[in-house]
Amino acid sequence: MMKRLLHIFSLGLALISSCLAEQKGEFMEQTVIIFKPDAMQQGRVGAILQRFEEMHFHISGIKMVQLSEAILREHYAHLADKPFFGDIVEFMSSAPVVIMVLEGENVIEEVREMTGETDSRLAEKGTIRGDFGKDKGQNMIHASDSVVGARAEVLRFFEPAELFPLRHNLAD
Ligand code: UDP
Ligand code: MG
Repeated sequence: MMKRLLHIFSLGLALISSCLAEQKGEFMEQTVIIFKPDAMQQGRVGAILQRFEEMHFHISGIKMVQLSEAILREHYAHLADKPFFGDIVEFMSSAPVVIMVLEGENVIEEVREMTGETDSRLAEKGTIRGDFGKDKGQNMIHASDSVVGARAEVLRFFEPAELFPLRHNLAD
């Protein structure tokens, strides 16, 4: 119950934060990508990143970290009651990952399309998961799925000093 309330509260903060950014005319859509341990181990980071660069998305932040179980439990809170919850937390915390913020018009939806279905076996060829992933758990990358979700993830994983966003002024 407490976890659910905290989750709702953090989404609320994310929503307010994205509205404020938009009002200031600084808003360019951002999404969070995590290169999961399978992508790291199989040497797919470069090939996947190249696809994003070819789309001319701007890299606002990028770093390598070993994520803690605590931050992953928060990140995957929407799946806390699923039987595979423990497995994802264990897998995602098992090795260092590369995590990145990409920025661009409609970047959230476009990256989700490029990513493909959650289950790599069902993902279409030409998508990241369809080309490189193995199954549901080992599916190469995480990508944010909504404006509010993405905002919460940017705040969860990055300090302001780690981000170098394009300043997009709507008045220009
Ligand atoms: N996942 C899993 N088994 C499932 C569903 C999801 O292992 O039956 C894992 C998978 O790695 C997925 C992550 O949990 O990427 C988050 O699930 P979500 O439904 O958010 O999928 P996504 O947004 O990554 O497509
Ligand atoms: Mg998801």
